[in-house]
Amino acid sequence: MNEISPINSEMTALQRRDNSHYLHPFTDYSELHAEGATIQDRAEGIYIWDADGRRIIDGLAGLGCVNLGYGRQELADVAARQMKRLSYSQSFFKTSNEPAIALAAKLVQLAPRGLNHVFFANSGSEAVETALKLVHRYWKLAGKPEKNVVIAREQAYHGSTIATTSLSGNPVFYESGGGMPIAGIERIKAPYWYMNGADQSPEAFGLTAAGWLEEKILHVGPERVAAFFAEPFQGAGGAIVPPATYWPEIQNICRKYDVLLVVDEVVSGFGRTGKWFGCETFGIESPDLVTIAKGITSSYFPMSATMVSDRIASMLIEKGGEFYHGFTNSGHPVGAAVALENIRIMELESVVENAADVGHYFGELIASLADHPIVGNVRSCGLFAGIQLVADKETRRLFDESLRVGDRCSAEALQRGLALRAIGDTMALMPPLIITRPQVDEVFKITLEALDATARAFTAQ
Ligand code: PMP
Repeated sequence: MNEISPINSEMTALQRRDNSHYLHPFTDYSELHAEGATIQDRAEGIYIWDADGRRIIDGLAGLGCVNLGYGRQELADVAARQMKRLSYSQSFFKTSNEPAIALAAKLVQLAPRGLNHVFFANSGSEAVETALKLVHRYWKLAGKPEKNVVIAREQAYHGSTIATTSLSGNPVFYESGGGMPIAGIERIKAPYWYMNGADQSPEAFGLTAAGWLEEKILHVGPERVAAFFAEPFQGAGGAIVPPATYWPEIQNICRKYDVLLVVDEVVSGFGRTGKWFGCETFGIESPDLVTIAKGITSSYFPMSATMVSDRIASMLIEKGGEFYHGFTNSGHPVGAAVALENIRIMELESVVENAADVGHYFGELIASLADHPIVGNVRSCGLFAGIQLVADKETRRLFDESLRVGDRCSAEALQRGLALRAIGDTMALMPPLIITRPQVDEVFKITLEALDATARAFTAQ
């Protein structure tokens, strides 16, 4: 067997086996091979235990997906029952299954107005890719195939396939080549008040940032612009929460130029912002397409969906012919049954209301971090927060990238039993939505300790 030898002799057998065969996503392999992975063993509620029995608070709900927390018996039972009854059902050849039918109806009931149709997939990337194909299909069927340019934003994250990487706004991701970004994607700056416009009030800046979309549409030509793709708040690309004035204006601009509005709710959906959908929180009234994933099943089963408006669906149904798109596991009965149970529990236990209530408290604590010596800016929305570290608060100068201050801060937090995430030098937190106020206190205490330790390490330098 060709095992790669680990550099760290302290590494456990599991870590060594991990290094030998398992290529992790979004990972620097030489670093992983030197350090070894944290092996997660079991989890319950907001807590994970690693293979050494150490308890870690999951301040990230996995990857913003385990909204209901870990270890719910009801979800395991539903999955087992459904696996015994109908473990799989294809939906390609005019075939359907009861859990998928019921889930589509339930999602329509929860979603923003006018989204009365659902296309199922497995991952967020697939849901966004489905939305992109639907946009192009729609304009073709509408007799306007020249409307084939889509606009996305810098610091967006929409997935990891070639098309969704191209929609994502991080140029580092295109470095592997393969023609990324694909043709037909234009980009505008993010509504990132702290870095892109802090000479204005946030409210005024929101309108300025929305105006960048109008400028781009006019530059490309409205007759060529098919759609605008955006997350309600930007998650993985920078933890950016837009000013309240941004989204209503974006919506007006899309309507004015007949540009389809595609809202990526893969992270913001299912309660993260304190409402079922980020659209409600940010005043987005009538999106044409909405992508959802993660929180549908609290990631007890991989499942995603593209919610489709009547405008687009009726075109497909009346004029479309065959839609050449889909996945083997689209509308998987086990995933659908788990999603329905996840939603039932969320409703029964008022999980979204908890996210709003505890999220408000969480937001207040996070806001108090603005006074910390290495914190330049804090932003939060429901149970999502970004804490931006800076070398100089006055001038907003960032730390030198090579110092990897954010990575140090997340390592300090992990050492103290909290998983949070560094997006560059912005520390992101998005705990499970079932978190309680005392647990938020615990998260906050460790976050503060990690910030203090990071400040000591870097101001000493
Ligand atoms: N869209 C958004 C907004 C996301 O945050 C993510 C993943 N974090 C995706 C799409 C892609 O989802 P997946 O990793 O399930 O493909």
